[in-house]
Amino acid sequence: MEKQKCEHKIWGKWGSPYQCRKNAVVQRDGKWHCKIHDPEYIRAKQEERQVNFDKERAESMARGDLDQARKDATKGLTLEVIKTSYSRANQAISNPQIIIKSEN
Ligand SMILES: [Zn+2]
Repeated sequence: MEKQKCEHKIWGKWGSPYQCRKNAVVQRDGKWHCKIHDPEYIRAKQEERQVNFDKERAESMARGDLDQARKDATKGLTLEVIKTSYSRANQAISNPQIIIKSEN
């Protein structure tokens, strides 16, 4: 008995599609597929890629959030420090007694 060949059509760079000539390993919905053209295999690969993509995106988003939070924290702190220093300096310049009073 002759071995079944994969029925998958391959689109080359040029011209019309040609048939995959690899030996088929599985039959699904009446069509024979080699290992790499098995729709189940292709779907599993796509799912794997999607899972990896989602994971990477989630990780990258988490990293981005962390970076942003760090930036915000630094910015917030710096701004707060500057504001406080500035207002103290302003008060001291315009009305030195307030500072003297408040420190007593
Ligand atoms: Zn094939």
